[in-house]
Amino acid sequence: MPIELTSTCRYCHSTQETNFLATERMLGLGGEFNYASCPSCGSIQLLTIPEDLSSYYPSNYYSFSSLQPSGLLRNLLKKIRIRAYFATGLKFFSPPFGGFWLKKLHLKFTDRIADVGCGNGQLLYELHVSGFKDLHGFDPFLESESQLGTGLKLWNKEFGQTDLYFDVVMLHHSFEHMADPEQVLKTCYERLNPGGMLLVRCPVTDSAVWKEKGSLWVQLDPPRHLTIPSTKGFVAVAERCGFENQEIIFDSTSFQFWGTALYEQGEKLDSRKIKTYFSEKQLEEWEQKAIQYNQEGVGDQACFFCIKPGKKVEA
Ligand SMILES: [Zn+2]
Repeated sequence: MPIELTSTCRYCHSTQETNFLATERMLGLGGEFNYASCPSCGSIQLLTIPEDLSSYYPSNYYSFSSLQPSGLLRNLLKKIRIRAYFATGLKFFSPPFGGFWLKKLHLKFTDRIADVGCGNGQLLYELHVSGFKDLHGFDPFLESESQLGTGLKLWNKEFGQTDLYFDVVMLHHSFEHMADPEQVLKTCYERLNPGGMLLVRCPVTDSAVWKEKGSLWVQLDPPRHLTIPSTKGFVAVAERCGFENQEIIFDSTSFQFWGTALYEQGEKLDSRKIKTYFSEKQLEEWEQKAIQYNQEGVGDQACFFCIKPGKKVEA
């Protein structure tokens, strides 16, 4: 049976709503999905979760592709690079898998770090070979539990099922795939040590593209995205769960423009089509526009940095 959810806003608890229908475009599967948009905080939620949501995740979905290990020499270079980045903050040294957010977390190599919705664990692997020693990935869609070297474990279970405590919990574009944002953040709060840091990176409805293009917005992504917060809605839930909201940084890219423009052309999300439709000049303009949108707070995705109040116990 499909799961019917109440239309009360899961972010700000408003009972007002504006409904709209959206169709699956990434794979061109079609269908109609009923979303509610909250007039009070601007967050979006899917009202009926399809019975078999997994059929909307094809086997080649990017988070299920196999992990790409690197050799000893590359791993040594990764170790040097991340240290140079932490020491200097220079963008030149910023590792390809994580830029400014990595530095903002003020990580120690001994910190216990959770990646919730870790997919194949590639990000944790990159941190592992860069020198981090206590890494845990959680994803209920993993086939089995696996230990990838000392200090890197992938768990095929929900984050709520662990009894470990963490210094840092991060969700990189997994939050919007979960139906109950309050339950997710409550679990993060419970599993963090006092003084611990939460990082959530996800699409946000502050997006100018969402406001201009509506259901053609590429990061609406029906029916895989179950909720998308506004920054206002996210902060409301985080504070209800006990978090202190430290900083919000927009990190949208030109994807918001070319992805949405492909949908306007009636195309699927096929990056090979970019060159067919858009000139180099157009793509460069979109790169610049994304930077501008981020500065203006109207980009289509953001990073939320939250702290669990309390004194950090130094090991
Ligand atoms: Zn709301």
